[in-house]
Amino acid sequence: MTKVIFEKNNGIDGINIADCPEGTNFIDEKFLRKTSLNLPQLSELEVMRHYKELSDKNFCIEKGFYPLGSCTMKYNPKVNEMLANLEGFTNLHPLRDDEDSQGALELLYNLQDVLKEITGMDAISLQPAAGAHGELAGMMIIKKYFETKCEKRTKVIIPDSAHGTNPSSAYMCGFECVEIKSDEKGQVDIDALKAVLDKDVAAIMMTNPNTLGLFEENILEISKIMHENGSLLYYDGANFNAIMGYTNPKLMGFDVVHINLHKTFSTPHGGGGPGAGPIGVVEKLKDFLPVPIIDYDGEKYYRNYDLKNSIGKVKSFYGNFGVLVRAYAYILMTGKNLKTVSEDAVLNANYLKEKLKGAYDLPYDYSCMHEFVLSGDRQKEQGASTLWIAKRLMDENTHPPTVYFPLIVHEALMIEPTETENKQRLDEFVEVMLKIAKEIEQNPEKALNSPKTTPVKKIDETLAARQPDLKWTKNSKQ
Ligand SMILES: *Cc1c(COP(=O)(O)O)cnc(C)c1O
Repeated sequence: MTKVIFEKNNGIDGINIADCPEGTNFIDEKFLRKTSLNLPQLSELEVMRHYKELSDKNFCIEKGFYPLGSCTMKYNPKVNEMLANLEGFTNLHPLRDDEDSQGALELLYNLQDVLKEITGMDAISLQPAAGAHGELAGMMIIKKYFETKCEKRTKVIIPDSAHGTNPSSAYMCGFECVEIKSDEKGQVDIDALKAVLDKDVAAIMMTNPNTLGLFEENILEISKIMHENGSLLYYDGANFNAIMGYTNPKLMGFDVVHINLHKTFSTPHGGGGPGAGPIGVVEKLKDFLPVPIIDYDGEKYYRNYDLKNSIGKVKSFYGNFGVLVRAYAYILMTGKNLKTVSEDAVLNANYLKEKLKGAYDLPYDYSCMHEFVLSGDRQKEQGASTLWIAKRLMDENTHPPTVYFPLIVHEALMIEPTETENKQRLDEFVEVMLKIAKEIEQNPEKALNSPKTTPVKKIDETLAARQPDLKWTKNSKQ
């Protein structure tokens, strides 16, 4: 039996691998070290305390209000985690045959089915790993569709309120992006649309409700104009939380859709993923979807690779399976109440908007959907811009709203409470926001000194960008 790999160390040893049981030491004695490695040692309890302390520094939806506009930071039911962690799912190798994977395939098939119903689309692929990835896949489909029709269409129209991923996806796919202005009501300007429309236009990309939280009232006219031009409509489904059960992209005239399952259908995504951005298409584009899609022949579920015009694969296997399980669990559990989810999300947003619009500017003062956008212009004049309002909120155990987006609102504060917050929590947020507005009016310095309660305090953002200090230690300047 070989000993002395680690020396006993004042009772703070972690694992003592020197004391391996007889017969389990397979290395010849002559190759083993005779002296200590002198590795730092910590007991299991100390290690646990370290990681717990680190995790406590994180802000998450379970810790406080998280009104990050556009991101739909709703509560993620814990039952989703339990189900995604079932051994039958986690230990199932994706290369197993269809016969051995019937349960998982059935789940994927059913999820495709229910997403068809929710979006109104005729076929779904679950592969894309996020919203932006869905956009790219959707643009690839649109491109290939026109190629097979031997039509050369090179442009994609994008409203100026759009999320940045929209032009990025279109551009990455080789399209030229044509921006159109919103009108004074925050809606797509029909005249501006007509002015840029020609036979080179492949599609328009839209979010409805748009990123101002406003429903595009002229959507039917827009889809008519686009289709008459032979162009397609792409629906960015990031704001789906506002419309479930009330309407769907098919009824609005869209041809290709992505849905951010991690937003609307609950998966923790504050750390940036993994997510899932399934895409749906109308009948004439079915054949273009990425493969495989999951089909059922009346007896068994199977992976169908046989799509004539498929754009190919966009992700290994079927996408982020765990996120798909969570979304399916959420949809089954919520059932017909998906409609109530949207009702409550819209109600909560309008409640906050009405309570806050006196203290902050509200450039587009209309009934909103699941989110709304304030402007910090007034506060900026008083000495503390939106950036500092956001930082000041961190000292109130509140995640800041999305800031400086959409780009068409100065000093934007984009607020999305979601349906999972109750009135008491919304009232607390209102109180904090009103307090901060008053503080800035009287003493903007206070906001400029925030945050004080977070692990990292006030950051010199210019220095951080110019001289990034990637090895943070207790002595680092930032
Ligand atoms: C979140 C979002 C996207 C991008 O989705 P990801 O899942 O983050 O890639 C696109 N458009 C809008 C409006 C969004 O809010």
